[in-house]
Amino acid sequence: MQMLLRITPMAAAVDFGLGWLVAWLVYPELGWGTHMVWPLGLCVVAVVYGIDSLLHLGRPLEVLAQPAVRWRLLVYVSLVAGMFAGMAVSLSPVVTGERRFLLAMLAGGLIPVGALSLAPVRQMAWVWLGITSGGVLSALLQLDPFVRNVTCGMLLMMDMMLLASVQSVGNGVVARLRAETAALRGRQSLDLLLRDFETQADDWLWETDAGGRLQHVARPMARALGFDDSDRLIGVRLADVLGVRAPVASLITHLHGATPFRGLDLTLSPHHPQDTPRIWSLSGVPVFDSDGVPAGWRGLVRDVTLLREQARELHRLARTDVLTGLANRHVLQQRCAETRTSPTLCLIDLDHFKAVNDTLGHAVGDRLLQEIARRLTACVAQWSQPESVVLARLGGDEFALLIDQPLTPAERQARVGALLAVLQPVWEADALRLEVRASIGVATSEAGIPDAERLFQNADLALYAAKDSGRNQICVFDAAMRGRMHRRAGVIRDIGLLLATPDGSHPTAGRLAVHYQPQFRLDTGQLTGAEALLRWQHPRYGWVEPGEFIPLAEETGLIVPLDEWVLRRACAEAKGWPASVRLAVNLSATQLGRDGLEAVIQTALSDSALPAPQLELEITETALMDDPDRALACVQSLRSLGLGIALDDFGTGYSSLAQLATLPADTLKIDRSFVAALGREGNGQAEAIVRLIVQLARTMGMHTLAEGVETERQRTVLLACGCEMAQGFLCSAALAPQALRSLLQQGVRTAAVSDPR
Ligand code: C2E
Ligand code: MG
Ligand code: MG
Repeated sequence: MQMLLRITPMAAAVDFGLGWLVAWLVYPELGWGTHMVWPLGLCVVAVVYGIDSLLHLGRPLEVLAQPAVRWRLLVYVSLVAGMFAGMAVSLSPVVTGERRFLLAMLAGGLIPVGALSLAPVRQMAWVWLGITSGGVLSALLQLDPFVRNVTCGMLLMMDMMLLASVQSVGNGVVARLRAETAALRGRQSLDLLLRDFETQADDWLWETDAGGRLQHVARPMARALGFDDSDRLIGVRLADVLGVRAPVASLITHLHGATPFRGLDLTLSPHHPQDTPRIWSLSGVPVFDSDGVPAGWRGLVRDVTLLREQARELHRLARTDVLTGLANRHVLQQRCAETRTSPTLCLIDLDHFKAVNDTLGHAVGDRLLQEIARRLTACVAQWSQPESVVLARLGGDEFALLIDQPLTPAERQARVGALLAVLQPVWEADALRLEVRASIGVATSEAGIPDAERLFQNADLALYAAKDSGRNQICVFDAAMRGRMHRRAGVIRDIGLLLATPDGSHPTAGRLAVHYQPQFRLDTGQLTGAEALLRWQHPRYGWVEPGEFIPLAEETGLIVPLDEWVLRRACAEAKGWPASVRLAVNLSATQLGRDGLEAVIQTALSDSALPAPQLELEITETALMDDPDRALACVQSLRSLGLGIALDDFGTGYSSLAQLATLPADTLKIDRSFVAALGREGNGQAEAIVRLIVQLARTMGMHTLAEGVETERQRTVLLACGCEMAQGFLCSAALAPQALRSLLQQGVRTAAVSDPR
């Protein structure tokens, strides 16, 4: 219908012209009369439908598709065809000569032209063909038989040809219409999908022409920009729309180029001052037309405000110690690695923090750590250039401070001293009053050659030294510490070598031996036992003190084979001793509760044929503290083997009396710190304590043995306090096995032998 209507004004003009032409053609011959009805009627009809079609021009398709329009057009077609038919029937018989020929030509031409023009709507073409052919046919029938037959045949053939053409053109038109309709439907559903996507998805689509003017903008995007109607943005430049709210220089640069971009973040200021700015991430690809000429851009926008916030928070968390809010180890190490000055690193370790955690609970421990962090932060804030300081918690009770600026030794001392001082005040929380103490290790990297790993190592060594020298101390790294570290490493390696040989000797690691310190009755001086003490003679270091290598062995786990070695060796050497002399062997804390300990002891006893009651194991209070129940169970099962248990270094630990009461020990060894205090002038308190310990042991059925007795006076006081036994340099230092054996053979009651070391 649209195709027909498009040509109707033109057809009306042609019809009007033809009407006049025919009237002008026949007038000279026929003059005015009824025959003029047809050509002039055609003119009138042409004017009417011409105006009507002009009025319909530009009407929407829905209007044109209405049946009324269709019917009206059919009426016009019929009327025009009728006029032509009328002309053929009424004029052709009466005009003559050339005029007749012209009319015939007109009729012959009009039938196919009209039929083909109307072909898009086949019914119209049929009506046209029927009426005009009918008219012409009836005119032809009036001719003489020969001409009539020939022309009628020609007309019929032309009509058949035209019917076929109309059919084919009509089919083509219908097919094209169907295809167009399908395409339209497709586009409509695509539109629906797009709209759905834009309202549901986080991504908003935008599209611009080559000039950067918006051709499409997703509704949510328009709304976010403050436009309720997205159509209002069509034709506006994208950069202008966004530029009101965000700096868009980079976007403009991208749009001027022709390469795709993604992840272009724009920070949009909020509509209302109380809102937060939004971050939009833009991506875009250039669009080219079929000739490869840039035709614009198509892209997506996503509001990534939340995403970026989360990423920032993650980044912050990855760099922060959650408990204290300080930086973490990662940040500190990074800053250490990046520094270009010669920075100072302080490692701060709280003294006895574990005890706080164990006795007061983790909640109090956490609060204490937060308090430490607060104090350190406040201290650092008072320094010049606080921004050059990184304060971090490395984990547990370990803090670190990197001062990333060159300091003179005096400045360094002042700052570290301030750190230690700020920790000293008593921390009062709820009903608690805690004294905070810390050890600080300090190291400065050599000027110009910052080496993060070495700096950490040095500060660590200094911290170690600070703890070693009595805690609550500051220790600055010096080169000798590194020497000590090497020695530590050497000691650990050599113990490993020694333990790998059955007799405990090695060409480069030296020789292990067990010496025995005799124990005597204080009243009679009778020798009651001997404590096995490990000795190590090293080719380079000379005699190495157990105090140096036992803690190292405990740290590294070497203590387990080491203690086993001592036990086996001591049992073997004690085999020939009189039954009244007990062998005392030290057992490290790590051994207690270890699986297979009983088996090891039984093997040592059976291999040496030493009677179990002749062996006494010395365990320290601290060994009982870690896991009292497990330790207690272990002690009980050791006792069930028939051997004795001595509680070593009593008084230095923190074991409660309740624990002590349940511990089935035979001997209580009073620590030498109490004994040392006994001899001093005016020290009645030490004497009172020793007296108390002795009474305590007696009520629990334990023997008492005083360690480290060095003077006659100590011996007298101990005797007065009721202590039963003693060991110490007064009587004898530890003896080599051979020396002890000859002592036993001589039956000498007391001896003052100098330490063979
Ligand atoms: P301990 O078990 O308390 O051993 C007694 C320590 O006191 C020994 O030091 C001994 O030489 C020393 N001593 C003895 N009489 C006196 C004295 O009159 N005055 C003073 N000031 N000291 C005296 P040593 O041999 O250096 O041992 C130190 C610590 O090493 C021992 O303390 C013990 O805990 C540990 N230890 C020694 N040998 C072994 C062993 O074979 N295994 C285990 N696990 N630890 C051992
Ligand atoms: Mg001992
Ligand atoms: Mg001891």
